[in-house]
Amino acid sequence: MFGRQIHLFRLFGFSVGIDLSWLIIAVLITWSLAKGLFPYFLKGLPASTYWAMGVAGALGLFVSIVVHEFAHSLVARGYGLRIRGITLFIFGGVAQMEDEPPDPMAEFMTAAAGPIASVLIAGFCLVAALFGAVAGLPKPVTAVLAYLGFINGLLVVFNLVPAFPLDGGRMLRAVLWHMRGNLRWATRITTALGSAFGFLLIALGVYSFVTGDAWSGIWWFLMGLFLRGAAQSSYQQLLVRRALEGEPLARFVQPDVRTVPPSITLEDLVNDYVYRYHFKMFPVVDQDRLVGCVTTRAVREVPQDLWAQRTVADVAEPCSEENTIDLGADAIDALGKMHRNGASRLIVVDQGRLQGIISLKDLLRLISLKLELEDA
Ligand SMILES: [Zn+2]
Repeated sequence: MFGRQIHLFRLFGFSVGIDLSWLIIAVLITWSLAKGLFPYFLKGLPASTYWAMGVAGALGLFVSIVVHEFAHSLVARGYGLRIRGITLFIFGGVAQMEDEPPDPMAEFMTAAAGPIASVLIAGFCLVAALFGAVAGLPKPVTAVLAYLGFINGLLVVFNLVPAFPLDGGRMLRAVLWHMRGNLRWATRITTALGSAFGFLLIALGVYSFVTGDAWSGIWWFLMGLFLRGAAQSSYQQLLVRRALEGEPLARFVQPDVRTVPPSITLEDLVNDYVYRYHFKMFPVVDQDRLVGCVTTRAVREVPQDLWAQRTVADVAEPCSEENTIDLGADAIDALGKMHRNGASRLIVVDQGRLQGIISLKDLLRLISLKLELEDA
């Protein structure tokens, strides 16, 4: 469910999308507003009005979350950080940042921008609801506005809990980072708080579940699980980033690469290369010229009884952004590329010429050595 994104639109140069899980949540929110909340506070309206209010409430919430994430993204961009896009998923929104903030101030301002936007939305909706009531706007309209004011207030309170990676946790991390000048220490403290808060939510979920409120129980439980996972992986990501940052790629390149000629059959490729050297990807070299690469994934797409007839040239992929990396790149770029493309090896090129290969295993070995030697 996670990770399957639907692109919606572009705004200010950011792509906005939703995770499929958000659609389910949107339906649940609409349903609980139309059947629960609105009929409880505003009695005696036709069912169709409640449904319209439910849809308006869910849409309003969607817009609120997008604005919240936009506030983060715009401020981050002001500090020169790259943002891949904004995705709404089951627990709200994420602005997908590609870089870590460069300094505590950038981190603090980026994190604070979201809650500030939500406070403004909440204030605007509540004032509009009040004025609307005085001015005699239809009750369903003011009720939806009041709901949006309330829910945005709730978003602010939740997001300000000082538990990384929630906004409050990021703000606290920025303050700690500023105090000691040690990002790793600040991240360790705030992700530990994130983990603990996640655990608290899980416990709350179990408690709600056994005391008869199954729906909220499941909700809190999942939210807690998610937060714990996010906190732990954020810390690990930082450790990896710190270990690899500034490490030149040249340090990891294995220059003597096993290459394959384009003319051999897939059968020979599998028997003489894949089963012998145990790699999933080989550079294809024709008379000292790198022409592409061949992967076990591509071989698998050819039925096995045709392996003796097809050649490497038939299935080789041309060199592309995805399977090659420039010798001048950073080790962290290589890791990011492997992660994005699910590859464990990349071809290292210098002006189109094969320089060697870089493997995930070697990157990981350096990370673990650094953690062992420099653990503070
Ligand atoms: Zn936020």
